[in-house]
Amino acid sequence: MDIFNTHTGWIEVVCGPMFSGKSEELIRRLRRAMIARKRVQVFKPAIDNRYSDDEIVSHGDIRMKSETVASAKGILEKLDWRTQVVGVDEAAFMGVELIGIAQQLADSGKQVIIAGLDTDYLGRPFPPMPDLLALAELITKTLAICVCCGNPAKHTQRLIKSDDLIVVGTSGLYEARCRRCFEPGVPKQEYLDFARPRM
Ligand code: ADP
Ligand code: ZN
Repeated sequence: MDIFNTHTGWIEVVCGPMFSGKSEELIRRLRRAMIARKRVQVFKPAIDNRYSDDEIVSHGDIRMKSETVASAKGILEKLDWRTQVVGVDEAAFMGVELIGIAQQLADSGKQVIIAGLDTDYLGRPFPPMPDLLALAELITKTLAICVCCGNPAKHTQRLIKSDDLIVVGTSGLYEARCRRCFEPGVPKQEYLDFARPRM
């Protein structure tokens, strides 16, 4: 961001539910850094190969070349230390090591831009995002549009039955929902109707 001079590192976090434009916002910021002739590297976790192995791809099909890492430690292994701006997509799938690594990169003068889900399919804070939000200089929450009612959506509704924390998928497996329309866990389970009567 323009408020910082080039000798200072910092952390920016972009977080929100699926379909809220995190990847598009990450790509927009990284493109601006490239226009400013900064050296940029972009990383994404290997688990997210929904559309491409070597690109970040938004749901609106906006793309940017990226490097794939098995976990956050891979960022340090693949990092060219001349890089000035480090982008990370799908940070919620990177593991808790990302917290220390983001700090290390920012302490060494780099601009670190991290995008990821802030909550999981049950609406719980999704590690390592809470720590990253606390440590960041700049944070942005993006909202999607609730597919049920059209209001701003902060939740990622899982549409299939699974108790796994990470089930990688896109439309058909997940949809964006607002606080009111969100049904944690498996939709239409009777215990949910019992526990959370609809207004
Ligand atoms: P994220 O990285 O947060 O999953 P993306 O940047 O990949 O989001 O995609 C955002 C794009 O998804 C939007 O610009 C829009 O074209 C599309 N989109 C599809 N469904 C929705 C929705 N329910 N709300 C908002 N945008 C949506
Ligand atoms: Zn809604």
